[in-house]
Amino acid sequence: MSAVDFLAGIIAAGAKVSVASLAHPELVRSLLKQGLLRDAGVMGSVVCVDCEEPHAAEVVFDTDEYGHICPTLGLISRARDDIAAVDVSLPSLITSLADAFDCTRRKATPIHGNTWRVGAVHTDHGDVMIYFHPRLSDEIDARNLTDALSREVTSKWRLIITAEGRLPISGAATATLCEIASSPEDGEGLVSIVDPREIVSVPAAPKTGAPNRFGETIMALIRSRIETGTALPGRNEEAKAVLALIERDPGSDVPTLPTVKSYVTKARSG
Ligand SMILES: [Zn+2]
Repeated sequence: MSAVDFLAGIIAAGAKVSVASLAHPELVRSLLKQGLLRDAGVMGSVVCVDCEEPHAAEVVFDTDEYGHICPTLGLISRARDDIAAVDVSLPSLITSLADAFDCTRRKATPIHGNTWRVGAVHTDHGDVMIYFHPRLSDEIDARNLTDALSREVTSKWRLIITAEGRLPISGAATATLCEIASSPEDGEGLVSIVDPREIVSVPAAPKTGAPNRFGETIMALIRSRIETGTALPGRNEEAKAVLALIERDPGSDVPTLPTVKSYVTKARSG
């Protein structure tokens, strides 16, 4: 299971989840460290399996310990680790997505309800506006999303990212989180695995256009650092080092750090 699949599953659950119920403790630790998951205290209820009939029971805090009340057996104490909960930090997720796609016009809070604007990706044919909505599985999700989008400036190209479901929406393309991003092993956030311009079918830029003007030079620089063993181990620190080298050359266009980072990722993946 990839970290992004795992994260998408928790978002799709729509509530905090019990850490003990999650199958991949190493992913939980890594995602907590990255801030994509956050500590959500303890679960509100548990299933009592201590008596004959399993039943749901509210978690209580009694003097100095957690437990649940069983009608048959009374107070049964539970270790905090057994009932600890996590949920997804949507603000961190949105920032990670915006970094992965090198977005401008970002927004740190939802535009309305549960719909977030990740930001804009520039193309020669107008900006692609990227939004996030946790689920797009039924009519209510679709209505909530279109209601939120109606409050935004109209844009020619829109991409909606969801954790689960991709109901067709008029005037927008949809994609799931797992289709567009992955989480590299180094634990430094998300990277894009597709170009949003392709998903929404923006016509290819003319060959003489601005996009990719840094590409070849930067890739050559990054590859030579790998070959000569001067590349730094972390993607972030390597991207910063490469950016510093580019900035030293007064004549060159200076890309953003996420752009350099995406080239580092590309060079390392072969
Ligand atoms: Zn019971």
